[in-house]
Amino acid sequence: MWELTQACDLACKHCRADANPERHPDELTTAEGKRLLDDASRFDDGQLVVLSGGDPLAREDAVELVEYGTDAGLRMTLTPSGTASLTRERIETLADAGLRRVALSIDGGSAAAHDAFRKETGSYERTVAAAETARQAGVPLQVNTTVCAETVDELTEIRQVVEDVGAVLWSVFFLVPVGRGRVLDPISPARAERVMEWLWEVADEAPFGVKTTEAPHYRRVAAQRGGNTTGRPTADDIGRRAGITAGDGFAFVSHVGDVYPSGFLPRSVGNVGERSIVDLYRNTDLFESLRSPDSLRGKCGACEFRHLCGGSRSRAFAYSGDPLASDPLCDYVPEEYDGPLPEQSFTDRGSSTAD
Ligand code: SF4
Repeated sequence: MWELTQACDLACKHCRADANPERHPDELTTAEGKRLLDDASRFDDGQLVVLSGGDPLAREDAVELVEYGTDAGLRMTLTPSGTASLTRERIETLADAGLRRVALSIDGGSAAAHDAFRKETGSYERTVAAAETARQAGVPLQVNTTVCAETVDELTEIRQVVEDVGAVLWSVFFLVPVGRGRVLDPISPARAERVMEWLWEVADEAPFGVKTTEAPHYRRVAAQRGGNTTGRPTADDIGRRAGITAGDGFAFVSHVGDVYPSGFLPRSVGNVGERSIVDLYRNTDLFESLRSPDSLRGKCGACEFRHLCGGSRSRAFAYSGDPLASDPLCDYVPEEYDGPLPEQSFTDRGSSTAD
């Protein structure tokens, strides 16, 4: 994932990037970005690249970069904000440039709820209109939703919207308190467990796929319900390996080129101006430890699901300062484990959705 820019016209409550209207003067240039894409193409044939932000469409070279990446053999996807930059002409141009998927955020089941969360009147209507335009342009749609105390009661309605807009994938992000997300309230581990069980049922009957972000225990929940228990499932329909977590199948490049295991784990291993993204991903201590479930500590380290799940390393870091500590959102305690349990503060409001 490459954060093209932190510039964005919105001021969403949960923004990881602490986005603001202005572009940063030290953003990677177009030429530096193309070098990064060339490097990324050395990972593997068809490496997936997500252009994120901020609003990646705040950069005028977004289409050029999609085209360049596509020509380099990368599968280019985009996560624009639901702002005025998402015009029909723009989406059609991106489709012509080779865009493989567009991801839009929907955080409420109605215009009122979504707009209140994203702090912009009209955002919901523009997002739904953009979804329709993407469908007409033949670009598959992913919907991203943040799960926290403020949105959890909207999930049933949002699930219906995801179906109505014709999404191929619903990506459900369980809040990690970084950036402006610090002002939001996470849900409790018990509530998260019920939401994941509900998502597992949705995945079974919905016409779209379901994945979680920063909640790998969804795979533990699936395994306990008779799903895949032998290891990671192979890939979703865009070829993304399922079961990716911070630093394992995933790297985040900031707008100025700093490389992190995830956008929610703010510990940089270097800059793409000095070392290639492939080298930073493959050969740095932090990334290597994140790909080693046996190096985990606490109950995640003692858990029989650590190779399948491993917990959110970003959330562990946010709460403890240790990326290898236990994930405090997980309700599961291994049978033989009698060590300390991680703590997190949380808020559970209401009880209707996925309860
Ligand atoms: S204890 Fe850790 S590894 Fe085990 S299921 Fe929970 S988050 Fe995953």
